[in-house]
Amino acid sequence: MTTDVQSDIEGRAACGVLTIDLGALVANYRQLSQRNAPERTAAVVKADAYGLGVAEVAPALYAAGCRDFFVAHFIEAVRLKPHLPADARILVLNGLMPGSEADCADLGVVPVLNSLEQVANWSATAKSRGAILPAALQADTGMSRLGLEPQELETLLAEPHRLDGVHIDIVMSHLACGDEPAHGANARQLERMRAVRARLPDAKLSFANSAGIFLGDDFRGDVARPGIALYGGAPLAGSDNPMRQVVRLEVGVVQTRTVQAGAEVGYGASFVAKSEMRLATIAAGYADGLPRHLSNAGAAYLGNVRLPIVGRVSMDSIILDVTALPAGTLKLGDMVELIGPHQTLEMIASDAGTISYEILTSLGRRYRRRYLSPAAR
Ligand SMILES: *Cc1c(COP(=O)(O)O)cnc(C)c1O
Repeated sequence: MTTDVQSDIEGRAACGVLTIDLGALVANYRQLSQRNAPERTAAVVKADAYGLGVAEVAPALYAAGCRDFFVAHFIEAVRLKPHLPADARILVLNGLMPGSEADCADLGVVPVLNSLEQVANWSATAKSRGAILPAALQADTGMSRLGLEPQELETLLAEPHRLDGVHIDIVMSHLACGDEPAHGANARQLERMRAVRARLPDAKLSFANSAGIFLGDDFRGDVARPGIALYGGAPLAGSDNPMRQVVRLEVGVVQTRTVQAGAEVGYGASFVAKSEMRLATIAAGYADGLPRHLSNAGAAYLGNVRLPIVGRVSMDSIILDVTALPAGTLKLGDMVELIGPHQTLEMIASDAGTISYEILTSLGRRYRRRYLSPAAR
């Protein structure tokens, strides 16, 4: 009861509304699954489902048929576990830190083994329990970030006792340049992936992230691992985005004013009015995940009207040039769009000199979060 009252108050108190359309999320999952069919489509739900709330996102994807969930850190697996039924698999991309093997085995979480050391630790855990423990094995095919080098893989295959007690369910690797279809690294990684795959023919192959799903059949494998495309981000750079938009962000106006030529705007007076103009201050800033790089660069929208950001982005507020709107259009409490039908994730990311991934995972905690349920659509 107390929490209901509290959440009513919080709903009214918040100056911004972040709407997360779980119906669009599920539609995106279905679209990707269809592209991969008959192969499986997993979901990458690391970083709190790219900032959108894993407690809501993961069950919605499970209900849509997803059974494999990738997180980055083991702590994320621990927190995700209670939100998913027992037949869902949780895999940990960053591998296992020494000391967490027993907890990982107890929880039935599947580690991605990225080194011979992690293989040895997981095998020791299995042997000490007299159990067979599942794992994914990651090969580095050219990104130099995570996974076994080719010679380490040879060592592992030449000395199979190293895998005692470990069942390799999935062999995987990750594309460094998948979002740039013409990049030569894609073909080089594919060739190395095929060589690895040939040495481990019984394991399922997992290669494609969101971009990989759109690179053609060669890149797909048995278990695709999309992240950003589920959340509405464009899988490929510079092409039309086939995904449905999942996120909408609206922020309230906290003050409006008219200033004269010469007025200095915001910290550092980085913007000076050239003529009379109308300004609106909105209640979100870099502490809410709107990057400071949007200073004098990005915009908000009211309908089709672009409202440029003037001056620096503050911690808790942003000043907009609303001169393009008839006087009195925006009033205290009115909402403008930061992400939505008029300004996509890609547009705001590009204005901020970053990528959709960073915008999503930075979305602040001060917005009211509204989840549209798939059933309600
Ligand atoms: C983050 C990540 C993914 C998902 O990538 P997207 O580009 O968001 O689809 C897949 N695999 C690995 C190893 C990752 O780190």
